[in-house]
Amino acid sequence: MTETFAFKAETKQLLHILIHSLYKDREVFLRELLSNASDALNRLRFEMLTNKDVLDAEAPLEIRITVDKDARTLTIRDTGIGMTRQEIIEHLGTIAQSGARRFLEAAQKNNFDTTGLIGQFGVGFYSVFMVAESVRVISRSYKPEAEAVSWLCRGDDIYQVEAAEKTTRGTEIKVVLKEDAAEFADEYRIKEIIRKHSDYIGFPIYVGTDEKPVNKQTSLWRTAKSEISETQYTDFYRQLTLDFEEPLVTTHFVTDAPVQLYALLYIPAKGERGMFSLRKEDGLKLYSRNILIDEYNKDLLPDYLRFVQGVVDSEDLPLNVSRETVQSSGLMPRLKKVLTGQVLKELETLAKNAPEKYANFWKEFGSYLKQGVAATPADADKLVPLLRFRTNLHPEVWSSLEEYTGRMKEGQKFVYYLLGEDPKSLVRSPHLEAFQAQGMEVLLLTEPIDPFLLMGLRKYKDFELKNAAQAEIETPSQAQEGQPEPEKIPESELAPLMERFKQVLGERVNEVRVSHRLAQSVARLVDPQDALNPELQRVYKFLGKEYEVPKKILELNAAHPILKGLLHLPADSELGTLVIEQIYDSALLVEGLHPDPSSMAPRLQKLIEAALGQR
Ligand code: ADP
Ligand code: MG
Repeated sequence: MTETFAFKAETKQLLHILIHSLYKDREVFLRELLSNASDALNRLRFEMLTNKDVLDAEAPLEIRITVDKDARTLTIRDTGIGMTRQEIIEHLGTIAQSGARRFLEAAQKNNFDTTGLIGQFGVGFYSVFMVAESVRVISRSYKPEAEAVSWLCRGDDIYQVEAAEKTTRGTEIKVVLKEDAAEFADEYRIKEIIRKHSDYIGFPIYVGTDEKPVNKQTSLWRTAKSEISETQYTDFYRQLTLDFEEPLVTTHFVTDAPVQLYALLYIPAKGERGMFSLRKEDGLKLYSRNILIDEYNKDLLPDYLRFVQGVVDSEDLPLNVSRETVQSSGLMPRLKKVLTGQVLKELETLAKNAPEKYANFWKEFGSYLKQGVAATPADADKLVPLLRFRTNLHPEVWSSLEEYTGRMKEGQKFVYYLLGEDPKSLVRSPHLEAFQAQGMEVLLLTEPIDPFLLMGLRKYKDFELKNAAQAEIETPSQAQEGQPEPEKIPESELAPLMERFKQVLGERVNEVRVSHRLAQSVARLVDPQDALNPELQRVYKFLGKEYEVPKKILELNAAHPILKGLLHLPADSELGTLVIEQIYDSALLVEGLHPDPSSMAPRLQKLIEAALGQR
């Protein structure tokens, strides 16, 4: 019985694009079919670890390709896991590959100009339609009771499924090539493509009647470094992730003690996983003796290194393991230790030998390492030297703590930092004025993760970290620098003025007092002694926990012309009230605490009118 199915709209669209594609590297279709065959063989091998009841249990795991020049056909057979009728409809009737779907999206965005897109995405099984007039897939599942099935598509919008004659396990894909694709019915050409794209497939690929496989068969990670080119490393990365950029760091290593492992790890160039990424989750691919055990293993690296991509293969993992028992085997912590050490060492080297590249890394992944310091104290020793900061004195570059302490003023006892929402408002913070005036360096911490970082980083070497907003520091008197000391408002006039502030601001402030730290700014807000510390306030805010912003103390600069100006206004003047309100709002704003900045607009307008009215 033949059943006819119509492809879904998106599959139709993909087929149309591929059939009419003029993509010059059409040969990648073979890579896709071979990668599917290899996946099928891998899955069979994995199944056989625990299940001996499979069809043709003794059959060798291999791929065979034959061509017929005259008939213009190419046939690929594998002895892999095969597909049942249900599976063939499910897997070949819809777009499985995320790369294919992304390709479609990108093609739509590009107005269907697909130049360069196909190679970029790896569109999976359907890429065969770049070269095929028709494709017949005949498959027999490894399940002994399953029947062979045939799937046929002639490049139109339908496919047909019917029973087939096939007594052996696996899948056979018979491609009738388009006239202009006759080159692929040539053994020599096929071998060339295999060597180029599929050399590392872990199963033998035989072409024609050759008795020797064409491919090397060792996976890339098991191949000696000296035999691998930069391009091969990058190609492998791209196939693994579909990230089109080159990886920032590639590290390939083998260890024998304390555990045996092969690892090929990459740090992507960008922190955000591209919208086209193939890797749907974090985690490394874990192989045991070349057999894929886990597609996304999250136990091989600490959480804070979850951006690392790649493959780990160990001879020490027992072969009869299921994915679950891998997690509980005592081997995992040892693998993790080795891998973590290697990645951190790699980063240390990068920071030392290629600071600019490291700065790029830091921009993309710095917050991960900060999370590591906070969440994994055991690794903090190694992570802290990798931290980088912007500072008030060097806002454009990334400084390490070592550099910071190297530049410290004589007698400086603390590493100062300031928390804020964004670097721009932070450099204008009144809390910085005293530091700025003394040429003292302050770390500017503006990432949401920073308060967490501080919880894990109380000290660097002998220096405690201290919040600059809370530090006891005075502005050096300007008289010392040969300038006239600006005159302060005398005590007798100051007291009623502060009273006026309290009256206007009422419950909004905890206290109004005079500050010794302000130079340019008229006021600043500080936390009362007993308040929840500012780091925790921000942690709560970040976690979305309900907490009340504690009432702050408003500190005034008693030498500031604005305050002097206020003295000249009548005690209850409306303008005075506006000015006081605005001073408070401006202070909230630079703290990043203003709940509704646009509400200041009407008041600012009144103040402008008043200013102009004086002329
Ligand atoms: P992907 O390989 O990313 O899953 P493909 O479009 O390449 O996407 O293949 C779609 C699906 O078809 C595969 O996931 C697999 O289930 C099935 N498939 C393709 N080729 C074979 C094969 N040779 N043997 C068994 N199943 C296959
Ligand atoms: Mg595939």
